[in-house]
Amino acid sequence: MSVRVRFAPSPTGLLHIGGLRTALYNYLLARKHGGTFILRIEDTDRSRYVAEAEADIVNSLRWAGLAFEEGPGVGGPHAPYYQSERTDLYRDAADRLLADGHAYLAFDTPEAIEAMRARHTTPENPSPRYDAATRMEMSNSLTLSADEVQRRLDAGEEHVVRLNVPEGETVTFTDLIRGEVSFETSGVDDQVLVKSDGLPTYHLANVVDDHAMQITHVIRGEEWLSSVPKHLLLYRALGWAPPQMAHLPLILSPTGGKLSKRSADRLGLPVNVQQYRDAGYEPEALVNFLAFLGWNPGTEQEVFSLDELVEAYSVERTGQSGVQLDLDKLAWFNGQHLRALPIEEIVKRARPAVEARVGTVSDERLTEAVDLLRERLTFAHDLADATYLFADPAAYDEGGVKKRWKDDSADLVRLYADRLEADEAFTVESTEAVMRDLAESQGVGFGRIIHPVRLAATGTPVGAGMFETLVTIGREATVRRLRRAAEVLG
Ligand code: GLU
Repeated sequence: MSVRVRFAPSPTGLLHIGGLRTALYNYLLARKHGGTFILRIEDTDRSRYVAEAEADIVNSLRWAGLAFEEGPGVGGPHAPYYQSERTDLYRDAADRLLADGHAYLAFDTPEAIEAMRARHTTPENPSPRYDAATRMEMSNSLTLSADEVQRRLDAGEEHVVRLNVPEGETVTFTDLIRGEVSFETSGVDDQVLVKSDGLPTYHLANVVDDHAMQITHVIRGEEWLSSVPKHLLLYRALGWAPPQMAHLPLILSPTGGKLSKRSADRLGLPVNVQQYRDAGYEPEALVNFLAFLGWNPGTEQEVFSLDELVEAYSVERTGQSGVQLDLDKLAWFNGQHLRALPIEEIVKRARPAVEARVGTVSDERLTEAVDLLRERLTFAHDLADATYLFADPAAYDEGGVKKRWKDDSADLVRLYADRLEADEAFTVESTEAVMRDLAESQGVGFGRIIHPVRLAATGTPVGAGMFETLVTIGREATVRRLRRAAEVLG
């Protein structure tokens, strides 16, 4: 049987990095086994629907390189891939469950449910459920006569369909990550399967579609683990075999605790894929980082391309306990992946930030700049900080000037400029030799010249190799800058 997995987001907002991690693990499993990765939009909760969300999900998956074989825009043998367009299927399943006694109609008003809760609330039972213990005191097709049920339906009374959870059973399944997990049905409520608007809840639609789409493995976040008993009861009631399941560990905030929108905001942490993208993280790095948020290859290797991840991945190597989000680690991954890209690709990714800072820059110039600074880049936009590679410095770092610009600096820098002007070769070797000669002839240490020269040529006290930098800046500009700084700084 070939592997078929799905990423099934609800379009309720921008794609969260936890969602991208779920998509990634599903993608890896599909690729690893030559299977199929499906995108299914779970949009039956109209009250939480956000129109932009779907485009964001699709764009984020594309940006991350996670192509799906079936789904919105791509089509496939199980189209449509929007749950809102598959309601007949859920209706049929609900009818079957009703006919077989695995579900029942319930007419209770919110007030009636509230009153039931109030009646049963005790210190031992702080939140009573609509379940085997209480359902017989409610208005449903188990307690009302068939005539009365029909009368209410004919009168158009609002109603829902509820799962008839069997009493006193233990539901057990083997999670691919957690091993055997058991639930007592006494802890499961008679879940609403079809809402009063006629639309299914997540549980019914999810099970019906996973079956219809022949999903073999469900990989999703730990927050869905508690839904499994309901799903397993549904599979059994519908006479279907459930897929294998794997529940991923929670993503924790760097300070511990669940990474909620609130805690993330407080720590200034990005949570949506779009925020990571805007902050300049490379997709390859984010993917690599997310792969390690819960999984490890069991070797020392950390830097992986997507293809290498496919090769190394196995669900069983996923951990059970929550993993903390560590942005320093992500930045490290970013530098690793960025520097490994072909130079033209780095140029492409750095261009927008550089041009936003200094205006249009030629390919050649950008390529030279990347060549010089590649090993020092963590983000592509770091290149924009080296404005001196594209324009004469407009100012000189104050601390640097204080520390490095001495009484004799202007003279030494001027002398160096004169000698460079005559240095036809203008190579790393020649510019260095010229400086050594100058230091010797003036009877000063090398540092006495090199530091003021760096300040004069770049405006900054630190950077890449001095002579490589001068060569990148070019002879004419270097000479001009040195003379200008000597004049300005005196
Ligand atoms: N629609 C659910 C979500 O938003 C899907 C959960 C699942 O994968 O079953 O995550």
